[in-house]
Amino acid sequence: MSTLNETHDPALKSWVESANHEGCDFPIQNLPFGVFRRRGFSEAWRGGVAIGDQILDMRAAHAAGVITTDAAAAAGEASLNRLMGMGPAAWSALRLALSRALRRGAAQADALRACLVPQSEAEYTVPARIGDYADFYTSIHHATNIGRQFRPDNPLLPNYKWIPIGYHGRSSSITVSGQDFHRPQGQTMPPGATEPVFGPSKKMDIELELAVFIGTGNALGHPIPIADTDAHVFGLTLLNDWSARDIQPWEYQPLGPFLSKNFASTISPWVVTLEALAPYRVAPPTRPAGDPQPLPYLDSPANRAQGAFDIQLEAALQTARMRQAGDAPTRLAATSYRHAYWTMAQMVAHHTVNGCNLQPGDMLGTGTLSGPTLDQACALIELTVGGKNPVTLPNGEQRAFLDDGDRVVLRGWCEKTGAARIGFGECAATLLPALACP
Ligand code: CA
Repeated sequence: MSTLNETHDPALKSWVESANHEGCDFPIQNLPFGVFRRRGFSEAWRGGVAIGDQILDMRAAHAAGVITTDAAAAAGEASLNRLMGMGPAAWSALRLALSRALRRGAAQADALRACLVPQSEAEYTVPARIGDYADFYTSIHHATNIGRQFRPDNPLLPNYKWIPIGYHGRSSSITVSGQDFHRPQGQTMPPGATEPVFGPSKKMDIELELAVFIGTGNALGHPIPIADTDAHVFGLTLLNDWSARDIQPWEYQPLGPFLSKNFASTISPWVVTLEALAPYRVAPPTRPAGDPQPLPYLDSPANRAQGAFDIQLEAALQTARMRQAGDAPTRLAATSYRHAYWTMAQMVAHHTVNGCNLQPGDMLGTGTLSGPTLDQACALIELTVGGKNPVTLPNGEQRAFLDDGDRVVLRGWCEKTGAARIGFGECAATLLPALACP
């Protein structure tokens, strides 16, 4: 488990002045990694570190001889898999070197100033080649709310409190914030119908989640013990697991979600490292009396003490009409990752307990992170009770599910007294109209 060190000191300031502004997502205590290039130039993708409203181009910083370790070279590559595979000692040493080089008064400031690219001039791609992706279901509040709609008499299946439920997703359709996508088409079974119909989904929804990027993997056949899971996690991003709620119920039994989920999943570009999140670890919720305790392979003293993260999360919606009027996105829901029933460590331990091998750059979704109350429900199907109670927006528009042109913006941040506020940036995309039928 990461402990606090000089890189977390809330008093640290950067010579990149925008990093010191109150409310900035990327102060010097954060230092998240991503892959970018200057927008409008046909230049190579390369790795960078967000600092204030700038990106430190790691390829340039390494080439300039300012930070010369192999980890710094890996952090400048077009995908971060090699850095992710290096492990916590290399990640931590790089973070310390970056923290020292970006502090006010650092001797490297002049050399590094030439390696900055404004974020406003950048575009991003996924930070790693994501070999495999699995999505979990770790919020019991989401599982209960959804289960009630799909199975009113039996919302929470008996396995839920024993096993971190998940399914294997698709990595080729994971895209990064800013990449819009078309409304999917598929088979649905309308209420009361006897045969399915084909057409554009009429129930497009969001799922506010976090994505866990695996760092070092495990050899096939060798599970990762829960006490070691932190050493195998590189960091976290925001994740919107877009879902077609009318395709889902017709296809999901008996093998789970398929085409209702795999047409697009959007992540935020910056991977916030586990070390940056260290000040925000908290105990997971106490299990209610009568709930089973986790089996030994899903339990550890560290997980009980600090297995959860207090990451504040928000989903906001901007319709096409709001955009034309210049209205900012309006909040749909807000919650914290701390409410999850199953922790990140339990996800990793469970995924590998049968010997399944994770690899650097693999991604694990947490599942929709709804909290205990309705305003913490992180999908429209929960907020609107299956579309029966549409949400009314400030301009009077109503939404049961998403309309074409709707833009959804996820945000995440951590803040508390005695620690620097850090953020994830945003995870945003716009739903475009369905393409012509094939
Ligand atoms: Ca999901």
